[in-house]
Amino acid sequence: MTNNEIWQAVLAELELSISKANFNTWFKNTGIVSIQDGSAMVCVPNTFNQAWIESKYHHAIIKSLERVMEKPIRKLEYKIENIKNVVETDLSPIISEEKPTNLVAPSTPTINQHSVTTNGFTINPKYRFDNFVVGKGTELAFAAAQAVTNRPGEAYNPLFIYGGVGLGKTHLLQAIANEILQKNPNYNIMYVSAEKFSNDFIGSLRDGTARDFQNHYRNIDALFIDDIQFIAGKDRTQESFFHTFNELHQANKQVILTSDRPPKAIPALEDRLKSRFEWGMIVDVAAPDFETRCAILEKKCAEKSFVLEDRIIKMIATTVQSNIRELEGALNKIIAYHQLKNVEPTMESVKPLITGSANNSRRSVTSAQICEAVTEFYNISNDDVVGKSREKKLSFPRQIIMFLLREELKMSYPSIGEELGGRDHTTAMHAHQKIKEEVENDVKLKQDMDAIKQKIYINNV
Ligand code: ADP
Ligand code: MG
Repeated sequence: MTNNEIWQAVLAELELSISKANFNTWFKNTGIVSIQDGSAMVCVPNTFNQAWIESKYHHAIIKSLERVMEKPIRKLEYKIENIKNVVETDLSPIISEEKPTNLVAPSTPTINQHSVTTNGFTINPKYRFDNFVVGKGTELAFAAAQAVTNRPGEAYNPLFIYGGVGLGKTHLLQAIANEILQKNPNYNIMYVSAEKFSNDFIGSLRDGTARDFQNHYRNIDALFIDDIQFIAGKDRTQESFFHTFNELHQANKQVILTSDRPPKAIPALEDRLKSRFEWGMIVDVAAPDFETRCAILEKKCAEKSFVLEDRIIKMIATTVQSNIRELEGALNKIIAYHQLKNVEPTMESVKPLITGSANNSRRSVTSAQICEAVTEFYNISNDDVVGKSREKKLSFPRQIIMFLLREELKMSYPSIGEELGGRDHTTAMHAHQKIKEEVENDVKLKQDMDAIKQKIYINNV
């Protein structure tokens, strides 16, 4: 590996744990001057950078270097120098560089004929079209998914499915895979989470197997990536995905992506990727209405041969509204409870089981967790939150935090102001009212809000 390759691998790792803004500020124009006998010299553009990197990332850089080099690093020093004087290049993607020819054949796992496994990712046979209950919120997504299944690579490419957590994105994605494979078991579908894609990519930089990675992801018939929003802010992964996407798309290979929000609303996603995601078809899955919730409960009861009276089903559908995963969870709990006790479900026996599940997750969330979820979502730093800038990209997330502190924690306006860098209580009050109205009128913001809340409560389990 060249010094540049080593440094790129280190940066790719660091990028995962640091916000994009921070990363760009501190690691732009850095590089490796020399590395030998366990001692490394990194060039940084100025003293300020050096002080910051040394105090915050020194240890992380050493650890990462050790992983990449597979050797202990005993000494890490910094040199202030213009990167152009030291390193041949730059931040260009390693993935596109030619490698020597004596590479070992890629260890691409072959895809099993029936249940598909790609690097441990299995397509679950339980996710099918016939057990997906189509409601108003999913009609279009369902139709698009079927069209793509019938004519992969031809109908809509890429197909982009977005929507909040637990609304059936993964189910649809896997249903497409299951159906395609049923018709043609040799169809080579690569199904991965975006996180896995990113980890594979970073691993390939680290191990010097960028070529293998490239072959692995490009010699396929279709690429399905779940939760693509994960690559936001990860520039190197995006770069690599961009090339993969182009190659597959040009060859009319079907690409399907899911995300918790539409391409335009994914912060820190390169514009060229956003525009590509819009080339094909974008469909959303929305939260199920009351009728659909009832239909889903009925279907799941039938699948499990469990009988629930109509009015009990309606009560559950009224109480558990947020998403289908929770609806399923509530039902499973009800079934387990009654089977264990060996009693018939009644309104009285079911009620405490579901009211518990609706409230449980709300306990013990802290203001720090709310701030963290919002800053992560909008890709800004904590300093941005308490800072003075009125730039919209900072002031808006700030207002979201104020809104959530009020709504979720019932904090007083003065203490909210205090929490956000000593702002006046009227600012907090204004923010709360403004966001409250916007959430009611703006579907997109409502979705973002749901995604943020999921983050808060999922992180809190
Ligand atoms: P997402 O990927 O959007 O977070 P999932 O696809 O994992 O959501 O769905 C969560 C659970 O709800 C899964 O068990 C899935 O089978 C079920 N589910 C979601 N939507 C539907 C639907 N329309 N009909 C039946 N089950 C559904
Ligand atoms: Mg999913």
